[in-house]
Amino acid sequence: METKIVRLEEGNRSEESLREAGEILKQGGLVAFPTETVYGLGGDALNPDSSRKIYAAKGRPSDNPLIVHIYRTEDLYQVAREVPTQALKLAEAFWPGPLTMILPKSDLVPKETTGGLDTVAVRLPSHPAARKMIEYAGGFVAAPSANLSGRPSPTTAKYVIEDMNGRIEMILDGGEVGIGLESTIVDLTVDPPQVLRPGFITGEMLSEVLGKVENDATLFTANAGQAPRAPGMKYRHYAPKGDLAIVQGDAEAVIAFVNEKVREAKARGEKCGIIAASDTAPRYEGDVVKTIGDRRDEEVIARHLYGILREFDDENVDRIYSESFGEEAGGHGLGQAIMNRLLKAAGHQVIQVRNH
Ligand code: AMP
Ligand code: MG
Repeated sequence: METKIVRLEEGNRSEESLREAGEILKQGGLVAFPTETVYGLGGDALNPDSSRKIYAAKGRPSDNPLIVHIYRTEDLYQVAREVPTQALKLAEAFWPGPLTMILPKSDLVPKETTGGLDTVAVRLPSHPAARKMIEYAGGFVAAPSANLSGRPSPTTAKYVIEDMNGRIEMILDGGEVGIGLESTIVDLTVDPPQVLRPGFITGEMLSEVLGKVENDATLFTANAGQAPRAPGMKYRHYAPKGDLAIVQGDAEAVIAFVNEKVREAKARGEKCGIIAASDTAPRYEGDVVKTIGDRRDEEVIARHLYGILREFDDENVDRIYSESFGEEAGGHGLGQAIMNRLLKAAGHQVIQVRNH
């Protein structure tokens, strides 16, 4: 299939492209589009064939449900069987924006879209082009991230093209996304509500609206003794081809440890990559050192993480060592989301080092 790639610019041309995208979606085709979190791979959420095509294009296991994107809050009543007051309060506080709510699904939403579940994930994105496209598409667009299953979510159209060119009808290029990590997912079908995936909207922000909110027990540990409640979170995700480990400890000890590992690897003829903050990056001896940003600026780290993981795939590194980011509770509180994705990318390999 030939994929039409269109750069969204201000003015009429972009309007035309969004209408065309809407038409493609109405007819059961797939369109990748920018949102404020990451690029989405859209299909008509009410058409079971479109959802099947999304799973096929991504190579995604079909028990991993899709998020239904809407363009106005009132459409929540179409896709959800019940809309609790809590959902309305969250919508009021955080929509349009990077928050996905899990609610009991209505009969309008096919099981193909929800991976066989009786619940539905709903989000109203704030990206203006995304919202227009959803409106032109008829109001309900199922969209997971626009990457091949297992790869990091795309934060620029370049990465969407890498994964989806030839597999879908259209790619809308809206430049680099703003946030860079997927939406926060909160499950409102349980009491207290549970965060199934941390994101830009933090647990603290949710608590201010909802009162008590819990974290799914699996967010930061590989051995919680239970499966994640968001089916997608159980799969190895975002994983670069090189073997990734997170190194934690005092900065000097981390640098010494990693440089030693790099020398050992070199002696074996292996190539190492390193992910470091701007202040420590110059201290590493790795073959490929990627600077993720100022360690206090979690928004910048979040925006750069997936791109860096992808870049390593082109560098053919055997091993990657990453400094640890975002454990400190300060700043915007994006730290939890960054750590959760980094842990998943590393398959929970964490090395603790100490000063001697
Ligand atoms: P993605 O769109 O690629 O960010 O993936 C969607 C995420 O939402 C996956 O982790 C899914 O498991 C999760 N999700 C979607 N629908 C539901 C649902 N009804 N219940 C729990 N998790 C869901
Ligand atoms: Mg995804």
